[in-house]
Amino acid sequence: MLPSAVADQIAAGEVVERPASVVKELIENSLDAGATAIDVAIEDGGKQTIRVSDDGWGMTREDALLSIERHATSKIRAASDLVGVRSFGFRGEALAAISSVAQVELETAPADGDGTVIRVDGGAVRDVGPVARRRGTTIRVSRLFYNAPARLKFLRGSQSEWRAVLDVVGTMALTRRDVRVSVTRDGKAALSLQATATLRDRLAAVYGGGFAARLLGVDEVSGTTHVSGLVERPADVGTATRRVFLSVNGRAIRDTGIVRAAEAAYRSTIPAGVRPTLFLDVVVAADMVDVNVHPAKAEVRFRDRWQVEQTVERGVRRALGTFDASAMFGRPGWMQQSERTVLDVPPAPVDVEALQPPPPVGEGLFEAATSFDEPSYAAQDAHNVESGAAPVVAAVDEHPVPALMQLQRTYLMFEHDHGVVLIDQHSAHERVLYEQFMGVLESGAQPSQRLLFPMTLHLGPEEAEAFERNREIFERLGFEIEGFGGHTLLVRAVPMPHPRFDPERCLRETLASLTGDREVSTHARHERLAATVACKAAIKAGDALSPGEMRALYIALRDTTLPAHDVHGRATIVQLTWDEIERRFGRR
Ligand code: ADP
Ligand code: MG
Repeated sequence: MLPSAVADQIAAGEVVERPASVVKELIENSLDAGATAIDVAIEDGGKQTIRVSDDGWGMTREDALLSIERHATSKIRAASDLVGVRSFGFRGEALAAISSVAQVELETAPADGDGTVIRVDGGAVRDVGPVARRRGTTIRVSRLFYNAPARLKFLRGSQSEWRAVLDVVGTMALTRRDVRVSVTRDGKAALSLQATATLRDRLAAVYGGGFAARLLGVDEVSGTTHVSGLVERPADVGTATRRVFLSVNGRAIRDTGIVRAAEAAYRSTIPAGVRPTLFLDVVVAADMVDVNVHPAKAEVRFRDRWQVEQTVERGVRRALGTFDASAMFGRPGWMQQSERTVLDVPPAPVDVEALQPPPPVGEGLFEAATSFDEPSYAAQDAHNVESGAAPVVAAVDEHPVPALMQLQRTYLMFEHDHGVVLIDQHSAHERVLYEQFMGVLESGAQPSQRLLFPMTLHLGPEEAEAFERNREIFERLGFEIEGFGGHTLLVRAVPMPHPRFDPERCLRETLASLTGDREVSTHARHERLAATVACKAAIKAGDALSPGEMRALYIALRDTTLPAHDVHGRATIVQLTWDEIERRFGRR
């Protein structure tokens, strides 16, 4: 074997692993050649044939012959070109490597009409001739590894090779929405995607309109970093296959740091252990990222990773923080119409603007208690009910609170432009208190109420231990507690998040649920404790609320950062859209 052929085969080991890696290289070349349409044909999972055709700018005969030689690349003229190379490959050896381990037929034309066809077997050029064709390039790779039995042995069954190919094409299709893509498998159409303008449109074409329409839009700019994309509604997380797609400056990559940052944004909106579907495009200034750290360019290195991750987390959190993120009631109306391209009819979001910003005045029950010299809330509420007058807060609130009704002593209901909205009062209050407690724990202290008669609590050994472990956090939350020998605590002061708060029960239940808890980081412990205390302290299903209390809860929930979810990831808000209602009444 010629030394250069040996080198090609060695190079092939790096570049060409399986049919999917051949498809990846060929598609990248097509994109580099400015293709607007790419057709992929696969036989026997790519083990028999891989054909990639494009309408790019093609090659002259001379260039075509050069393209299958090692270091043939047209992209590097000088070493300095290595910096800031924006195209995919730059090593100039993919075609040579592929040709060395398969039978390759390359057809290309720089303009419609006269073109060139070259046949190569295992690295040796067999045939060069003319061909008439349209502008562009078609490369057919047959019998991959026919001359490398050791490699051939490592190929999987055609089904799993096919899936890997589809994965590569799918990733490209999400990265380059502007390119028309088709894939056939053993002669049958498997995927056919028109060029689209948006990620949502492309996802609709790949995974279906219903799936795409349910995702929440992310759009966050910070300095020169721009994060955009679509992420799963918390209520949907865990209900279907998880998918993650990430691109940086137009290139699909893997990056656990970015994925973790996005996932961090879901904290307290989904149960631990389930992970959200994410499609994110990150764009940073070219000099802020090094794309040449990975042989297949599947990873990048950021100059300021922290800043990028912060932007991702903030963007995703903001997407989740809208009322639009609340669970839809049953199957939303627009899902039935999925045939008439759902994406023309975006899901009706609850008008977030109408719910913001916070009015300056809170009301009794759901406000942080700052002083107990104020008049009794109960009396105030009673007054409102009796007089039928609008609660005091309405006078100063330029963002009107809708008429609220309590159902089953459990849900608040109101009407909205887009439909009927239900709020779970316990979940909502829990969310409100959680954010209040987190604010307190991460900065400052909760005002507390001194008890006239200190209360004693007798604890079991595990609860006493849980208290000792979290003592400082309890104090920050407004509990003033002394040890009283053995497992007895003397409670001198308690927080008073609302007048119905039962501190003894809250403390007992919180300590009981903290036994065995071993969160290590301070932040995680804060979250855990804030969530637990919020859950125990919140009003319960079955508590009757006065109109004033309902309004106060509505306002307090509106002012939270994640109004649509309680701290366990359940929905606090459910919408029943007018569409759905009309459909059920047969009006449409
Ligand atoms: P690289 O892409 O790293 O330059 P390759 O071996 O993949 O190396 O390709 C070698 C060269 O062949 C490319 O630089 C390009 O000039 C040419 N080439 C390959 N595929 C195509 C294509 N589909 N259309 C036009 N030119 C192509
Ligand atoms: Mg290439």
